Order: sequence, then C-alpha cells, then structure tokens
Amino acid sequence: MKLYNLKNQSEQVSFVQAVKQGLGQQQGLFFPLNIPKLNDEQLAKWLQCDFITRSSYILSAYIGDEIPLEQVTECVKQAFNFPLVVRPIEENIASLELYHGPTLAFKDFGGRFMAQILAQIASNQPITILTATSGDTGAAVAHAFYRLKNVQVIILYPKNKITPLQEKLFCTLGENIHTIAIKGDFDDCQRLVKQAFDDEELKRLLCLTSANSINISRLLAQICYYFEAVAQLAVENRQQLVISVPSGNFGNLTAGLFAKAMGLPVKRFIAATNVNDTVPRYLSEGKWLPNQTIATLSNAMDVSQPNNWPRIETLFQRQKWELDELSHGVVDDRMTEKTVQQLASKGYISEPHSAVAYRILRDQLQDDEYGLFLSTAHPAKFKQSVDRIIAKTLPLPAALAKRANLPIFSHQLPADFALLRKFLFMHAT
Ligand SMILES: *Cc1c(COP(=O)(O)O)cnc(C)c1O
Repeated sequence: MKLYNLKNQSEQVSFVQAVKQGLGQQQGLFFPLNIPKLNDEQLAKWLQCDFITRSSYILSAYIGDEIPLEQVTECVKQAFNFPLVVRPIEENIASLELYHGPTLAFKDFGGRFMAQILAQIASNQPITILTATSGDTGAAVAHAFYRLKNVQVIILYPKNKITPLQEKLFCTLGENIHTIAIKGDFDDCQRLVKQAFDDEELKRLLCLTSANSINISRLLAQICYYFEAVAQLAVENRQQLVISVPSGNFGNLTAGLFAKAMGLPVKRFIAATNVNDTVPRYLSEGKWLPNQTIATLSNAMDVSQPNNWPRIETLFQRQKWELDELSHGVVDDRMTEKTVQQLASKGYISEPHSAVAYRILRDQLQDDEYGLFLSTAHPAKFKQSVDRIIAKTLPLPAALAKRANLPIFSHQLPADFALLRKFLFMHAT
C-alpha cells in the first residue's frame, strides 16, 4: 500500500511506515494513493461474508502485499473480538451500536486494530505511542496496549474536561500507560501532540508514533463496521440509506466516506455535531472559522479544529463529489437532553453523542429513506449526565465497576511543550 502526504505529494510511504509515523512532514496527513473499488458482484459477495472474513478482505484490499492476508486476518480476529449490533428504534431508523468492546466506545475498533499492527512492528524495536484524547480514545488505546512489550504509551487529556468514569477507565492502569492531565482543552492537547511530531530529535529518539484518529490504521479499521452495518440490514433498507455520524475529529465520518468510495451503497451521510460546529458552518457558509472550543455534554465532540477534515475534502475532490451532498446539523445541550429523554420514553437508553446523531437524523430523514445513527458510546460511560437527564440510576457495566474505585495515576502539566518534552524524555526512555 502506498500513501502520500496531503501537504507534500512527493512524500510517499508504505502502510507500515504510515502507521509508525502517524503524520508526515509539516504535520501532513497520509492518504491512500489508491482507493479499492468493488464492482457489484464483489460487493454482493463480501456482504455475505462474516464480519471477520469481510473485514480482513477490506483491510487487505488497502494494505496489499505488505502484510499477508492470513496475518491481517489474525490481527482482525484479535482486535474485533466483540459484537456490533444494529438495533431498530423506529420503523425506518436503527441504532448502530459500536460500544460493545472492552472500553465501551467505538474507539475500540481502531485502537485495538492499531495495537495489533504495532505489536508486530514493535517486536524488534521499542516504540512510544503519544496520543491526545477527548475521553474515549485514551481508554481504547490504553487497554489495547496495556502490558505490550516494547511499547510505552503517553496519553494527554484535558484536565477536568472528561467524565470521572472516563478518567477511571484509563488513568488507573499504570505500568506502560502514562497519563497526563493537561490544563487546557482538547485542542491544546492535540496541538502539543503535533508539536512533538514536529520535533525531529524527539521523534527519532523515542520512536514516536501517534494513535489518534489521524493514524491511518485506525481509520481503515473503522471502514469495516460500515460494511457490517449494511450487511446486517434487510435488503430493502439498503437502497436509500442515510447514516448520521456524531462527529468531533471527523475520523468516524472519514471512514464512512471511504466505505462509500469503495462502493458501499450509502445515499448520504450526515455530519452531526454539538455547538462546536466549525464544519457545519463551513458547509453552509463556505468559511473555515473555528471558534473557541465550548464544553458540552457530548465532550468527545468538543473539537473546533477537526484533524481529519483535509482527508474528507481530498476524498470529495478525488471522487468528484460535491461538498453540498454532505448533510449536516448542530444540536445544543438542551436539545441533546430532550432527545435522550425522548429516546428513553421509546425504551432506548442512549447517551449524549448518540443522541446528537439521532436528533439530526430524525429531523432530516425523508419518507422514502432508511436511517442509521451511530451509537458511539455505552450510556453508562456518561452515567452522571444520563442518570440526571432520565432521572434513573443506570447499572455500571463490569468493565467500569471494576475500575471505579481505583486510584488515578495521572500526572499534571500546563499546556506547555517544553515541559511535555522533558516529561517524555524522563518517562519514555
Ligand atoms: C471520539 C468520539 C466521537 C467523535 O468521533 P470522531 O471520529 O472524532 O469524529 C463521538 N462519540 C464518542 C462517544 C467518541 O468517543
């Protein structure tokens, strides 16, 4: 597989190199030189395969002969060892539940696949994973890499801006997992990570790799569940399919668009955000004007400078799609709460991120369409808000109950690169 740097076309790397490096020169994102395209016959055949088999085909179609299919299959088997569920909510709307993995959010798909690939790379060289999280990536990455030999993991998160349970899930592990609460917001954390990747000495000495959704291995892994969702739908519901994606850094939506570019029948996607609405405003007004990030109930989407956006623009250009084909919508906290309540009254317990996606889908779905909204986290992961909103006490799933009373090992730093740099040398070498 060949990928090129979106900021410098002449920088081309292999899949393994892109996974290892995360970002290219000038913090450019890697983008596949070729996107595999399925014909109708192939697509029909793939949709009949089981999840693991089909996912191996999808990933192999990108990776090519760099990693043999059997090895890719083995990684997929280890990574995707939990179910995903399409749950009908209304006559023409279903929830795609992506949160049945070990850390109860869809980030498990990308995080676990990436860990499998990196474990192979790290077998002959120690590496350091540096990543920023708005809450759920941290958990997925920490659990996927916990106790892996030759791997040190450093996770930055915005202090006091993730939920206490999110924090418990990944800041209580210790050993090769180092967590830092940064005094700032997620965009600050993301900026620090980017600065680290611009630091050639640091990068070389620590063998730095990022596990953010900018990492191509995570993105490719996420393509797989869009195919599985369609495979689980009745054939008559596949024709006019609309998928609503609750978006922050826009990795999830990018993966969905790659699936469509490969030939998966999706009529249109909806980019659903909270009031951190840089992309919806850009789509309706044509101007890229990030505001200060605002803290909301759907905190994993509190991102005002979404990293993956250049990939989406490139994909639209290459596919000759028009950006105005991308539907969009914004939901504030008050409406999010109302929507969680509405869904609860239908007997469906959701959490703020998924509710944002449902709200916009419900409002925009046409009579002849079938809608899927991505449920990206387990409601118990946002228990504090959800309990309050629906005036109930949700039970704690075992994965969370186990960690709820453990001490937190996090370090604390201001959003200052010089201090982070020092920390990295102390803890990762
Ligand atoms: C990360 C996350 C999102 C946003 O996904 P992106 O790929 O960053 O757009 C949405 N919901 C939850 C629960 C998340 O953890």
